[in-house]
Amino acid sequence: MIKIENKEDCCGCCACMNVCSKDCITMELDNEGFVYPKVDESLCVDCHLCEQVCPTKQENTENTPLIAMSARNNENNDRKTSSSGAIFPLFAKKIFANNGVVFSSKFNKDWNVVVSYCENEQEIQPFLKSKYVQSHIDYSFRKIKEFLDNNRQVMFVGTPCQVEGLNNYLKAIPDNLITVELICHGVPSEKVWQKYLDEVLLKNNVNKEDISEIEFRSKKNGWNNYSLEIKTREKTILSQSKYDNIYLRGFLQNYYLRPSCYDCPSKELRSRSDFTIGDFWNMDRVLKNYDDDKGTSILLVNTDKGERFINTLPFEKKELEFEKVFSCNPTIYKSSSMNEGIKEFFENIDKKNIIDNINAYLRPTIKPSLLRRIKRKIILLIRG
Ligand SMILES: Cc1cc2nc3c(=O)[nH]c(=O)nc-3n(C[C@H](O)[C@H](O)[C@H](O)COP(=O)(O)OP(=O)(O)OC[C@H]3O[C@@H](n4cnc5c(N)ncnc54)[C@H](O)[C@@H]3O)c2cc1C
Ligand code: SF4
Ligand code: SF4
Ligand code: SF4
Repeated sequence: MIKIENKEDCCGCCACMNVCSKDCITMELDNEGFVYPKVDESLCVDCHLCEQVCPTKQENTENTPLIAMSARNNENNDRKTSSSGAIFPLFAKKIFANNGVVFSSKFNKDWNVVVSYCENEQEIQPFLKSKYVQSHIDYSFRKIKEFLDNNRQVMFVGTPCQVEGLNNYLKAIPDNLITVELICHGVPSEKVWQKYLDEVLLKNNVNKEDISEIEFRSKKNGWNNYSLEIKTREKTILSQSKYDNIYLRGFLQNYYLRPSCYDCPSKELRSRSDFTIGDFWNMDRVLKNYDDDKGTSILLVNTDKGERFINTLPFEKKELEFEKVFSCNPTIYKSSSMNEGIKEFFENIDKKNIIDNINAYLRPTIKPSLLRRIKRKIILLIRG
């Protein structure tokens, strides 16, 4: 049976809970705000299935993609409402056209993140955009299997460990499943997020029920200079760039990522996903004067099935050598590094208010100079 001796050995993918035929595994939140499996030993029959599906216990080998490219949705409106180059909605629309089902992550009513599904374009909006909190898989893998067994096409989009958990759970990967992993910096603690949100709400005298929208990657000031925005129906209560916002800065400086994220078991394309998508940060190094600040994705095609899937899809792409793409965004393979202050940060999680706690550890953020930002704006204006 599954036993978590070191927290870094569990990425919270829930594959063990989904596979257990005795339903004796539940996921419980720890004091840092991450879920871990707990086994009711009185029901366990020692079948070992839970260990066999666990991403941290597999010896999956690293892979390289078949094709690497920059990718953009042709519809500027779709790019406006997505975090990156809007490849997720592009793929989702093809799945809907095939009468398929799309599983991905959205906020629940408490503004935590959960995996759920949609079956048509009208239902896709809550699933768009990156949410920088770990999403709860719950029993989604069982639901996915049900749809697959009923011959519906299914697309699952999630972190590499979630995709690996799903693929391990299914054992043989069926033809009617398409998986898309995100390039993954790591997932922040739900407890840190909720404490941060509570403090922002308290300061603004707003109740959680009054929030109408939360965006971690607003493109209001451009894709490169994204911001965190929290809105009620009446007003915007927070709008701060990644250079100024405490929550985004603490996330980007790796203070409250899940312990497994510092030595990720599923990066290096070990998840066996059909695709990998992420942001084409630093693209100027390989595609001069191409960045229009509206969002461009890295798209890696990892399987023949993936190649067939995008064959007829209309979108703007430029094929590139993988080494060049990787040099712009090493997060595809590299885990985030651990900071010295993390242990102390979590020891103080219930003792201090969260904004003060994060602030105590943050290093100064280096903003691009005003001159560079003005130059970039002028270039973009000239290019139209
Ligand atoms: C926690 C996290 C860390 C990331 N780290 C990096 C990184 O370091 N480098 C990089 O290049 N890209 C990273 N990404 C991916 C990037 O932010 C975009 O999500 C991706 O490029 C897809 O953008 P899009 O415009 O095609 O789709 P969008 O329309 O923006 O859709 C985003 C997709 O991600 C899913 N999603 C959102 N939040 C979560 C979540 N918490 N867990 C699982 N799935 C989620 C959505 O449901 C949707 O399918 C990260 C994403 C997340 C969620
Ligand atoms: S060993 Fe089998 S019965 Fe026991 S927890 Fe794991 S999957 Fe469930
Ligand atoms: S990594 Fe996934 S399968 Fe392994 S113990 Fe954690 S939740 Fe279970
Ligand atoms: S960094 Fe790895 S372990 Fe952490 S959420 Fe991403 S895929 Fe999972």
